Amino acid sequence: MAYLGNAARTKEVLAKYNMSAKKKFGQNFLIDSHVLEGIVEAAGVTDDDLVLEIGPGIGSLTQYLAEAAGKVVAVEIDKTLLPVLADTLSEYDNVTVINEDILKVDLDEIVSENGGRPIKVVANLPYYITTPIIMKLFESRARIESITVMVQKEVADRMAAGPGGKDYGSLSLAVGYYAKAVTVMDVPPSSFIPQPNVGSAVVNLSRYTEPRVKVQDEKRLFEIVRTAFNQRRKTLSNSLSNNPSLGVSRQEVADAFLKMGVDEKARGEILTLEQFAELSDILQR
Ligand code: SAM
Repeated sequence: MAYLGNAARTKEVLAKYNMSAKKKFGQNFLIDSHVLEGIVEAAGVTDDDLVLEIGPGIGSLTQYLAEAAGKVVAVEIDKTLLPVLADTLSEYDNVTVINEDILKVDLDEIVSENGGRPIKVVANLPYYITTPIIMKLFESRARIESITVMVQKEVADRMAAGPGGKDYGSLSLAVGYYAKAVTVMDVPPSSFIPQPNVGSAVVNLSRYTEPRVKVQDEKRLFEIVRTAFNQRRKTLSNSLSNNPSLGVSRQEVADAFLKMGVDEKARGEILTLEQFAELSDILQR
């Protein structure tokens, strides 16, 4: 089977199965071999690895992953793609396709069924559920070593942003808590069929063995982070003391800022993850 990663083969396969890309599942198939090779290289996939692919589509990226990895488990929600995948992946005996919604899959089960090896996640993600997928991967107990994924360019920028800029926010802090984020390459709409109406980028998230900061209460930390960025134009002090569910008074916030050496008029976007962690510990319930 020739590689699918070009426009002619992709159109041929879609025509053979009388199919077209489904918008509701965020289907944009990759047709650029340089991008496909770049993703596998950025993920550092070796033949020892167990790779979890989310949304194999017609199998374009899966073919490259099957060549490089020891084992590939691919989770696809769209059952009409199963016969296509059986065809396009027929030459590979190291790929298992699971017809499921990735948000409902038990990741621990996949790891234990495959000898307990840590997982590298590699995917051209369906953009409509990027954040829930990434958070599920980080929050699961399964040993996920790295996540190398195609996302909307704007989302890649937010994931990799540091304090101070317009892209810095809850997503930067949530990702930064678990992993180091690096944008590997920008990818234009012309690398897909059909073309998405936004630019894309590949990001590599390599997971820290322990979260980057220690906090007494992780939930409290992210509640504070979300509050800080909900109304970006307000001062952090206003946002925090105006959110009744946090249960902190203006005075308590002022005392915390004084202790931390943070200006009373500061906005959330200047605080580092370490500072948010400190604030969260001071403002314990
Ligand atoms: N990997 C293919 C490629 O690069 O050409 C297809 C990528 S396409 C952007 C996203 C894929 O994710 C589609 O195949 C879509 O059906 C699948 N998908 C969408 N929602 C999903 C979900 N909740 N669980 C699993 N797969 C999903």
